[in-house]
Amino acid sequence: MQNNEIKTQPGCCEDELNTGLLTVTEAQARILDSVTAVDGTESLPVREALGRVLAVDIVSPIDVPSHTNSAMDGYAVRAEDLPAEGVREFPVPGTSWAGRPWLQPIESGQSVQIMTGGMMPEGADTVVMQEHVERDGDTVRIGNGHKPGQNVRAAGEDLAAGQPVLAAGKHLTAADIGVLASIGLGEVSAFRRLKVAFFSTGDELRAMGEPLAPGEIYDSNRYTLYGMLKKLDVEIIDMGVVRDQRDLIEQAFTDAAAQADAIITSGGVSVGEADFVKETLEKLGSMSFWKIAMKPGRPVTFGNINDAVFFGLPGNPVSVMVTFFQFVRPALLKMTGETGLSDVYTVRAQTTTALRKRPGRFEFQRGVLEQTAPGELIVRSAGAQGSGILRSMSEANCFILLDPDCTSIAAGEQVVVQPFQNLI
Ligand code: AMP
Ligand code: MG
Repeated sequence: MQNNEIKTQPGCCEDELNTGLLTVTEAQARILDSVTAVDGTESLPVREALGRVLAVDIVSPIDVPSHTNSAMDGYAVRAEDLPAEGVREFPVPGTSWAGRPWLQPIESGQSVQIMTGGMMPEGADTVVMQEHVERDGDTVRIGNGHKPGQNVRAAGEDLAAGQPVLAAGKHLTAADIGVLASIGLGEVSAFRRLKVAFFSTGDELRAMGEPLAPGEIYDSNRYTLYGMLKKLDVEIIDMGVVRDQRDLIEQAFTDAAAQADAIITSGGVSVGEADFVKETLEKLGSMSFWKIAMKPGRPVTFGNINDAVFFGLPGNPVSVMVTFFQFVRPALLKMTGETGLSDVYTVRAQTTTALRKRPGRFEFQRGVLEQTAPGELIVRSAGAQGSGILRSMSEANCFILLDPDCTSIAAGEQVVVQPFQNLI
């Protein structure tokens, strides 16, 4: 009798049972748990530290502001001299300019003209706005109804001497370098830049400028990876395309591990015959291969070679971007020393297109998120969702997050969306 049955093998993309798959959250947690911040710091002028990660806690050496000063242009007085009713006339012996203080104590019944940022004369505790007085030569007339202590900024009200200012692990923003400047710090200690090496694997890949023979394609993953890494302020080491040959892959891995803190490859992690990434990683270091219950981007290899962390991403162009954003990016950020709040968040939006989905895997669908009115968000599918359709990734500005058990979604329903504009 003829055998007319085909025994199916567990495949990379077609097994719909999804048994033994890791969830996205588990994979994220495992990866994050196994990476640590680089050691190595450098001292940088404050402006160069913008976008870098602070390596030490900063305590303010001074009070900011360093002196009690006026928040308005006006007249400094003693609160007890303000009239309870009617109007009182005050002699004005001089002016306290910002940076040019009036150094004599204010006497009872006097008022000193004061500019915004001007140091409060000794004895004065209240400022009356210029617009609320009548100036007449060397005197000023002030009415009633003013609050004692008004329009005065206390020394140290922004930062007090000895107060913690910024914590190690802070990703330094424009406000942060401003704060550092306000306490007079010219240089800060930052974690050294992370070094990230990456390359593409595949016999079918050609570089730009070369003609394509039948079956060949241009290598796009090195460009999307370059672009996403560029956003992270890491040192980028582009190692080109490596052919699907054991010895070449091994050489590339060894070279990358010698220079980089992290290695990212794309392609060669499926169950294809010419996929040497897993076996080479196993030979040179440690290797975990995960099938993750997600779409796109199911197979991901993770491990290390010596001190370098290794991320073996799938080959399909959209899978590369999705797995980079969901797994590699948070891990690299942790490796840079950053410990602050995540810059990735989710929002709710109403989908204006129906979304098709099969139950089983978590889906990251490419979407276009738009604001129709303040606080009102709509999202639509960015088009074809195949893992090779890079065009829809280029049109998208967010992922629409669809839970494993969710099935298709009708237009008009609320969905959870993860914006990525400006992050990749
Ligand atoms: P692989 O994981 O190597 O089997 O690759 C899966 C799919 O992604 C294949 O269709 C490859 O041709 C494609 N692919 C792999 N690497 C790249 C790349 N660097 N640029 C564009 N497509 C790629
Ligand atoms: Mg390949």
